[in-house]
Amino acid sequence: MKTPSKVPSDNRGQSTRSIHGTDKKHGISTGVGPSIYRTANFTFSSTGEMKLWAEGKSSAYIYTRYGNPTLAAVEEKLAQLEGGEAAVVTASGMAAISSTLLSVLQAGDEVIATTQLYGGSYRLMRDILPRCGIKVHHVDNTLAGAEELVSPRTRAFYIESPTNPTLRLVDVRKAAAIARRHKLVSIIDGTFASPVLQRPLDLGMDIVVHSATKYLAGHSDVIAGAAVGSSKRVAAIREMVISLGGSMDPEAAFLLDRGIKTLGIRVERQCENAMAVAKFLARHPRVERVHYPGLPSHPDHRLAKQQMSGFGAMLAFDMKGGVAAARRVCDRARLFLLAASLGGVESLVVLPIYTSHYNMSAKELAASGVSPGTIRVSVGLEDTADLIADLKQALD
Ligand SMILES: *Cc1c(COP(=O)(O)O)cnc(C)c1O
Repeated sequence: MKTPSKVPSDNRGQSTRSIHGTDKKHGISTGVGPSIYRTANFTFSSTGEMKLWAEGKSSAYIYTRYGNPTLAAVEEKLAQLEGGEAAVVTASGMAAISSTLLSVLQAGDEVIATTQLYGGSYRLMRDILPRCGIKVHHVDNTLAGAEELVSPRTRAFYIESPTNPTLRLVDVRKAAAIARRHKLVSIIDGTFASPVLQRPLDLGMDIVVHSATKYLAGHSDVIAGAAVGSSKRVAAIREMVISLGGSMDPEAAFLLDRGIKTLGIRVERQCENAMAVAKFLARHPRVERVHYPGLPSHPDHRLAKQQMSGFGAMLAFDMKGGVAAARRVCDRARLFLLAASLGGVESLVVLPIYTSHYNMSAKELAASGVSPGTIRVSVGLEDTADLIADLKQALD
């Protein structure tokens, strides 16, 4: 049911929306930039107004954990970028993911999720949800056998695409169709693509969650998350955020909004750099295999062309010589910083076995497609030639 009330009637593009959000009033001495409401609480002018708030008859701001105009402005922008009715921003991607899952699931319920997930999401499902009486079933990224796992207690279908760190894709339309057939709430972690490259709500998903720490904010300077969907579903997620306390700080909301202004141009240029890096690595004799959906050799290349408008700026490669060779490359890289996280303007390398996929058994690693010699790369905005020169010296 996509009749987003907040989306302007004109057909503005993603870059325009990233910069302007909803229509702005022109006015004398009106700031071009947003104001930061650096406050925990808000005043009321009378007890009568407070009473209306308590009765649910007023949408006045009371306390920043419940809402704040700086947060509301970036929420509106995110809803527009994803083509959803509403959005809620959170203190982290994990706050968005946990609050979203708990807005749908309760004790006795079951969720079906893909196996290849961000490590934190996987551990939430392995270690925390079962303690809440929620049963988790996993399927691989082809979704084979998913429907056989549906029981009368299944409530949600959770996927991530592209996946971390081997960039496998899930057929988003197929996942949405399975969920619809069995009346499950479909949720996707769309962090790696950002709304610039993939619009999961248009592909039929109910809720898209993001680690806004990554491409949306884009400068490795803030931890942030978001969930976007229908007004009803987002209201339920917001209830959870308020109760569990994963609300965003206004300063973080400002940084997120500031980052989003350049999202389109950043991602476009990062995709170009990533393609050049992927092609260079694919030709290098010390590299066993490159995982990048933009290469025709990637198993999900065709699917990427169908459901994404670009191949993204994340890639991974497996070194011949396993973990020892992979460690040597990471230790020798100079321009590529050795750091966790992704999606910022700086290019990064990491070994997933020591970061996102720590504390996982060999079997769990194999199911995630991670080998000990896998190096994950987040391609930034540096000059292409410098990136390739740095990888070349690290590999040679
Ligand atoms: C980083 C990340 C998360 C977690 O987000 P935080 O902002 O670190 O809480 C979730 N999903 C994906 C795909 C991520 O890359």
